[in-house]
Amino acid sequence: MEDPFDSERASLPRNMIENSMFEEEPDVVDLAKDSTAFPGFPALDPDEVVYEPRSSRLLVRGLGENDLDDEEEDYESSARLLGMSFMNRSSARSPSSSPYTRQAPPRSCSCPSTRKLVVGVFILVLVSSMAMALYFLPGCTFTKAGCHKDNSSTPIEPVYPNSTTGEPFPWNEPRLPASVRPVNYNLSLTPNLTSKTFTGRTVINMMIQHDTKRVVLHSSDLNITKATFQVGKDKSVEVKVLEYKPWQLIAVSFPEDLKAGQVCVLTLEYKANLSNTYDGFYNSSYNDVTGAKRVLAATQFEPQAARKAFPCFDEPAFKATFLVRITREPEYITLSNMPKAKTTTLPSGLLEDEFEQTSVNMSTYLVAFIVANFTSVSRNVSNTLVSVYSVAEKKEHTHYALDAASKLLQFYNTIFDVDYPLRKLDLVAIPDFLAGAMENWGLITFRETTLLVGNQSSPLDKQLVANVVAHELAHQWFGNLVTMRWWNDLWLSEGFATYWQYTSLTTVFPQLYPGDEFLEVRFKAMAKDSLNSTHSVSVSSQMTSPEDVLEMFDSVTYEKGASLLLMLNSTLPDGQFRKGLIEYLNKYRGSNSVTDDLWNSLTQAQVLPQQESVSDMMRTWTLQKGFPLVTVSCKDGQVNLTQEPFLLSRENTTHTSSLWHIPVSYVNDSCSQAPSCRQLFVLRNKTATLKVSDSVKWLKLNYMNTGFYIVHYGVEGWAALINTLKTDISSFTAHDRASLIHNMFALSRLGRVSFPQVLSLLGYLTKETETAPLKEALSQLSSVYRLLDKRPDPYLVSRMKGYILNLFGPLINSLDWGEEQSVSRQELRSALFEMACGLGQENCTDQAKVLYDQRTNSTQPKIIPGDLERVVFSVAAQSDSGWLSLLEAYGHTTYDSEKRKILQALASTQDTRRIVWILNAGLQGSIIQTQELPLLIGTVSDGFAGHLFVWNFVKENWDSIIEKFPLGSYPIQSIIKSTTSQFSTQMHLEEVQGFFSGLKERGHPMRSVQEALETIRLNQDWMDRNLPALRQSL
Ligand SMILES: [Zn+2]
Repeated sequence: MEDPFDSERASLPRNMIENSMFEEEPDVVDLAKDSTAFPGFPALDPDEVVYEPRSSRLLVRGLGENDLDDEEEDYESSARLLGMSFMNRSSARSPSSSPYTRQAPPRSCSCPSTRKLVVGVFILVLVSSMAMALYFLPGCTFTKAGCHKDNSSTPIEPVYPNSTTGEPFPWNEPRLPASVRPVNYNLSLTPNLTSKTFTGRTVINMMIQHDTKRVVLHSSDLNITKATFQVGKDKSVEVKVLEYKPWQLIAVSFPEDLKAGQVCVLTLEYKANLSNTYDGFYNSSYNDVTGAKRVLAATQFEPQAARKAFPCFDEPAFKATFLVRITREPEYITLSNMPKAKTTTLPSGLLEDEFEQTSVNMSTYLVAFIVANFTSVSRNVSNTLVSVYSVAEKKEHTHYALDAASKLLQFYNTIFDVDYPLRKLDLVAIPDFLAGAMENWGLITFRETTLLVGNQSSPLDKQLVANVVAHELAHQWFGNLVTMRWWNDLWLSEGFATYWQYTSLTTVFPQLYPGDEFLEVRFKAMAKDSLNSTHSVSVSSQMTSPEDVLEMFDSVTYEKGASLLLMLNSTLPDGQFRKGLIEYLNKYRGSNSVTDDLWNSLTQAQVLPQQESVSDMMRTWTLQKGFPLVTVSCKDGQVNLTQEPFLLSRENTTHTSSLWHIPVSYVNDSCSQAPSCRQLFVLRNKTATLKVSDSVKWLKLNYMNTGFYIVHYGVEGWAALINTLKTDISSFTAHDRASLIHNMFALSRLGRVSFPQVLSLLGYLTKETETAPLKEALSQLSSVYRLLDKRPDPYLVSRMKGYILNLFGPLINSLDWGEEQSVSRQELRSALFEMACGLGQENCTDQAKVLYDQRTNSTQPKIIPGDLERVVFSVAAQSDSGWLSLLEAYGHTTYDSEKRKILQALASTQDTRRIVWILNAGLQGSIIQTQELPLLIGTVSDGFAGHLFVWNFVKENWDSIIEKFPLGSYPIQSIIKSTTSQFSTQMHLEEVQGFFSGLKERGHPMRSVQEALETIRLNQDWMDRNLPALRQSL
């Protein structure tokens, strides 16, 4: 799935059980691999085993989990990373599985003295625990009569929850049992777009894996009217379905065991309402070119909403084949994952479309179908028919996407060495769609903005479309062909899709400068990952709640995931990364994988310098949250390196002992630009030294910022680098210059450098002309400005404004407002103009007004260059007449990306009555679609007039908001972040804390709330630390 707010420099997220990642290696996983019958399923044991990849917790009926407490786990995790294989808890926990226990891979450094210490401590703890136990034991313990035995000494009978009918529900875990495996689904759906309801019939062919008395699967908001069950060739009999709503589970119980190896058929008939949110099988409407209202029905299942459209085993590991039939009225068309096989006219006059059975095994979240009134353009690419669908009047806007998709499909077919396996690939623009896009196999769905490109679209609009298409197409391999076993490893899908989106564009559309965007994305991921509330890329498989699953769709999963892949690729010798991936794709195609499977495939392909294995290195990056700060000093050829976690939080934190195996790259003053200058050293320990030539004057670490770490050069090191920048800017690549700016600001936030040092570095910018470093500086200064702007110090605000305009003024004045072909220049000038006009620089606002007047001139309207539309509209929206004319234009424009720019302009008004109006309109969803509410809230939050009001709006309307956007979802993460991230006072901290803690059941404990609180505290700290310096130096 593509997040819809890609353009924001947001960072989001909460508090999980990251540390349980370091539990013993997965017994079940190994067994699953050995199972020849059904790869991906445990071949052992019973019905009572929950399918739990990655974890050794075999949840056996009657035995509670043997949880470690946090501290123990944390200690163990750190120890493991240090290479100690002490205290094998797994064997104590599940002795019967010990023959299968995988040994922890050998680590590069072992610390026997530490081990002795640990054993000593362990014995001490054991002895004192026994003493404590004796002290607390009841007096009867050692008497001859002994204590009265109560039930607690025998294994506890499982406690089953009550189903809706009051009878016990026969399963007591939120995850499905592994005893039954679906093989094929036969789905028949009859939607009624007028009554907004549908009926369905689902026939599930399944295989019994282990003897069991129950079949448990998912269903949500479906009213099941009839259920029959057939075993083998026996007669099918009617069965009773029990439902447990909190876990969205249904079950059928049997008096006798169903036997392993039996084939059974469960048939369920049901009716339901089409969903009025953005997931499940939902209905939506739009106005066509004549203004007439049109309706459509479409699906969005990822992550857990297939169960809202048909009863199913709705976990990614339960792959099966699907045959879909949909009944429609003649005026509509239907689409699904596969090509249409036939159409039958029913006695009612309705038509039934039947699609071919999927030729691949797929996870339920990738199933999709659409009933709508769309038209298409098509092209054959190799053996695949590629089509782009849209509403009829936008057919002309589909050609760019068709071209992009065709080129990218060819690129991926070649680079992955595995052909796209389906005969058709549809890309569909849906007028009302919440995510950016969704990678359903063979039927990718998009927002109109992310797929359609008009004649007047700017190259920046095209860049967005190419990006999203590249992302979703990469998913057809990473995510669809090879799927993560559970949502804890979502990064295997999203991290890869994000990585390939930039990598494929670099080859296929280099003119779109995807490299600059990828660099920004890495900075963005670091902003989020430097908070204590972040999570590891691969989290514990114990997470099960829908909110936790939704919160996985965040910047760490997508962008840090992609950044780690880039770091690995730039560390491995040429070609080895691809070789390992091809091996991984071939080994796991059609099935599921966990993170270690990936590292193992890559380790077989290559071992790194200093005998470092890919697996050893990468586990330190995916299993720990956060990232390192590398401090470097260099004297007389001796280079000292130190690593520590880069952690902004002032709170007592749990992962300060973390160590990473860091592929440190470096260049020096004699050779610093070309890729061949780059040298590599793997820093595994807290400190290390290396030798360089005595004549080296300075080192720049993290060449091109391909590594996921920040570097501190110390006072002298920074001075040497700043001096070089000022004397010869071309000593560094543009990305290295952006990286220096980024690192300097990050260190300032950490309190390691003073603000005057930051300003000293920025002094070189008067000579800078490249987009990446300029945009980075602009973005950092803007965020400082936005914070200051919200505080009662107008004098300082105006000084800061003066400083920024001064710094960029000459550059701004050199840019013109005409057509511009280079994407990179467009990005730069739109960012600079938005900043200048936003700060009220008259040259800028005057020019913007001229362009707006020319556009609205009734006799000879002139088109505004696409990259300048947003800034021009935003300036226009500040006047009464401009705002009203934009509102009118919003109603008429059919072109979605222009609509969004107008909307942002409308929301940038400083008139509070209009702010009230527009937020309410976004919430109601009639004039402005509700899918745009997070965008509106984000824009209003940035402005001075709206930032307090919008926070009140969110508080007052919380219940309506979470009705539209589920707790934990990306829109909710974005809303929480944008409304709170500019607070920097104790009062606001308490206010935000008070609101979220008062929500109780209406607010699942979300990582984004923790992150918001942390951010406010950090803003507070930064202000306390830097205000005096700012007052002095500006
Ligand atoms: Zn995605």
